[in-house]
Order: sequence, then C-alpha cells, then structure tokens
Amino acid sequence: MPNATSLLPARVVLDWRKGQVSDQPAPCVLCGRPALCRSPAKDLPCHKSCAEAWITGHARTPDHLARLIAAHTPKGAA
Ligand SMILES: [Zn+2]
Repeated sequence: MPNATSLLPARVVLDWRKGQVSDQPAPCVLCGRPALCRSPAKDLPCHKSCAEAWITGHARTPDHLARLIAAHTPKGAA
C-alpha cells in the first residue's frame, strides 16, 4: 500500500484536558526535555505535542490511527 499514508490526516490533536499532570518535571520519553504532562497510555512523562507527532508518524492505517488516539486520550475526556 504505497499510498496508505495519504489517507491519514496531516496532524493529530489529542484531548489531554483530563490528563494527568505532575508537579515534578521529568524527561519526556520522546524528546528528553522536561515535561509535566503524563501520557494517558503509559503514565510516562510526555509532551502532548510529542505524543501527537509520534501518533502521526506511527499510525499505519486510519483504523490504527483511531486506536492510537483512543489509547492516548485520558478516560473521561469528551
Ligand atoms: Zn517531548
């Protein structure tokens, strides 16, 4: 499927309004810079923008994209 990526949106936007935030910065698992946000998927320090970029780069199909977004959206988000 050489054109599979053309089916994906250019940019993922996650809803982390109900996400966990620490009062202690820790190195982001993706970029290594201090982050207060915690990934809803694994409770690891991670910037929202880094998670969005990671999902955009790793989703292989629209269905996979939807599952990644669901996994990285905090429970209870609208
Ligand atoms: Zn980051």
